[in-house]
Amino acid sequence: MERADILHLLYDADAGDVRRRAGETLLRVKGTRVFVRGLVEFSNVCRRNCRYCGLRAPNRKLARYTLTQAEVLEAAARAVASGADSIVLQSGEGATDAVWLAEVVREIVRSLRVPVALSVGERPARDYALWRDAGATRYLLKHETADPALYARLHPGHSLAERVACLRVLAGLGYAAGTGFMTGLPGQTPDSLADDILLARELGVTMCGAGPFIPQADTPPACAPGPMCSCPVSPRSGAGETTASMTARRRLTWRLLTGPSRSPGARAVPTGKGDAGERESPAAEARQQVCLCAFAVSVT
Ligand code: SF4
Repeated sequence: MERADILHLLYDADAGDVRRRAGETLLRVKGTRVFVRGLVEFSNVCRRNCRYCGLRAPNRKLARYTLTQAEVLEAAARAVASGADSIVLQSGEGATDAVWLAEVVREIVRSLRVPVALSVGERPARDYALWRDAGATRYLLKHETADPALYARLHPGHSLAERVACLRVLAGLGYAAGTGFMTGLPGQTPDSLADDILLARELGVTMCGAGPFIPQADTPPACAPGPMCSCPVSPRSGAGETTASMTARRRLTWRLLTGPSRSPGARAVPTGKGDAGERESPAAEARQQVCLCAFAVSVT
């Protein structure tokens, strides 16, 4: 499948037909089993300045937190007790000492005997190797957009090449690497929507998430709610096409392109106050500050 084929699925093909074919592919290669990932957002501290994200370092309005090792382990245990098949440890970038996190990973694997995925951003290869040795088997690092110029605008001081290099290092270390992208970013084009999918395929990732861009109040004007927030699905989309429906189409197209890979069915699953997924923690409060660097809880 080439870019033109993907554009056809995104913009021209009958939406119902795309959904039906993707559903058939899902049933054929994955069956009906649902995998539940227990997410522990252990810190919302971040050193980066992704312009669409409420957790970005310059946002002084956000109350920051980092859980202790004991709190992370307790949350993981509660998630597993509630039926999670695996644990995802997520934070902003640069929030943690590598050895601290390795100790947490090792203890979860030892005591809970579930796979551990990490989503803590771009780090040196030695950190990725340390965590792999500790037992982490999956790593989630979304590329967000395959357009290098747009990536640079949205991530001041960073490049798409750096992110892709990290994903290649992770794969080389034996991680099951996952990536993903957003739909609706200011400045996105139809071609770049297709290129996101092609890049994920080229990287050979085992999971790819497609999430909508949701303007966040405490972000710079181009990414905040208001008239400057343009909708990239408009140039070729028909009446009624929205960021949400385009996000769904991209997810289905990814499914058609790479049947065996995982596609998160949800970014986050609110489970109600008081249970393992959303309890009275800073994480629940901080969820209002939309972080788009990684997946939350995923299915399939
Ligand atoms: S998207 Fe991730 S890396 Fe970027 S500012 Fe938000 S938490 Fe940090």
